[in-house]
Amino acid sequence: MMISLEIVNGLKSILEDFYGKEDFYPLHIPVFDHVEQQYLKECIESTFVSSVGKQIDEVEKMLVEYTGAKYAVAVVNGTAAQQVALRLAGVEKDTEVITQAMTFVATTNAILYNGAIPIFVDVDKENMGLCPKSLRDFLEINAELKNGKCFNKTSGKRISAVTPMHTFGFAASIIEIKAVCDEWNIPLVEDSAEAVGSFVDGKHLGTFGLLGVLSFNGNKVITAGGGGAILTNDEELAKKAKYLTTTAKVPHKWEYVHDEMGYNYRMPNLNASLLKAQLEKLPTLLASKRELTNRYIEFFSNKSIKFKTEKAPNKTNYWLNTILLSDRAERDEFLEATNSNGIMTRPAWTLMNELPMFKECQTTDLTNSIWLADRIVNITSSPKL
Ligand SMILES: *Cc1c(COP(=O)(O)O)cnc(C)c1O
Repeated sequence: MMISLEIVNGLKSILEDFYGKEDFYPLHIPVFDHVEQQYLKECIESTFVSSVGKQIDEVEKMLVEYTGAKYAVAVVNGTAAQQVALRLAGVEKDTEVITQAMTFVATTNAILYNGAIPIFVDVDKENMGLCPKSLRDFLEINAELKNGKCFNKTSGKRISAVTPMHTFGFAASIIEIKAVCDEWNIPLVEDSAEAVGSFVDGKHLGTFGLLGVLSFNGNKVITAGGGGAILTNDEELAKKAKYLTTTAKVPHKWEYVHDEMGYNYRMPNLNASLLKAQLEKLPTLLASKRELTNRYIEFFSNKSIKFKTEKAPNKTNYWLNTILLSDRAERDEFLEATNSNGIMTRPAWTLMNELPMFKECQTTDLTNSIWLADRIVNITSSPKL
């Protein structure tokens, strides 16, 4: 096998130079300074640590400013955001939701939480996001419009949403995906959990569909400890998002009336305080990540390993830097060589259709998903301050 010590040592010297000498280089860790400490201290002193507080309103405003979405609703995590966004898009029990086979399990769990059934289509070989051609082919073969609604002819069920995922922060072909969704009258919900700070032609990911979702988990570009957000340009949906995530409580001075099944999914003010500090330093963190990426680009430019880069007019956050090995055996060899040498690396997720709970789900041909899953490795990507 061909993974030489030269590659592992080369990576190690990049990491030593960038982060300083360490015994272990994790994949992606958050970085904080005195500002996070200060905001958390202020939050605790205010006693508003839970589901009400001014930092929640502040981060929602900051998210609107940064992403360009008209509305942002902060919630407990990205999975909850995805669950509620799908429900708001009209996903119901016994309907079907189309997503990609290569994604994190949260995308698919959120479909199940709504009682719906996932369908897995292939990803694009270049950008690793849902492939618009695979989606179109699936619909042309399997779908029909009845009274303006899209139905699966094979199962008889309504197709209630399409939810692509922007893999590792690289933009999926979202404009083409949206065109197919519009043609078939299917609501588009973007799982942009990994894409905070990623744009297509200056427009932030998560703002192309009816709704978009962000995650602020500890391993993401910025963190709230745990947290997520629902983005939309639709005022009614934004109001409904806030209402559903606040136990569907009918506003009243003292009465407790809830007129639908709601959720306790509001982001606590304690988490919002951490997120506020992180949002303030987001441009700095992205610049730091890009500096590391540029070193990788140079390093891999004369190697047989392909390093994934953004394609204009897309701008990626380089959440997880990604390389492609030549096959699964070489991938495993690389994973072994790096992880046993203090450099944390990881493969892509096991494809959704291979997981026991999704084995019976309908899929398209998944050639690209299988090809990529055999080759992808994510390498150290943390920012530094
Ligand atoms: C991180 C992630 C989520 C969920 O986010 P949490 O905040 O961890 O719940 C959803 N989808 C994808 C693709 C993710 O990477």
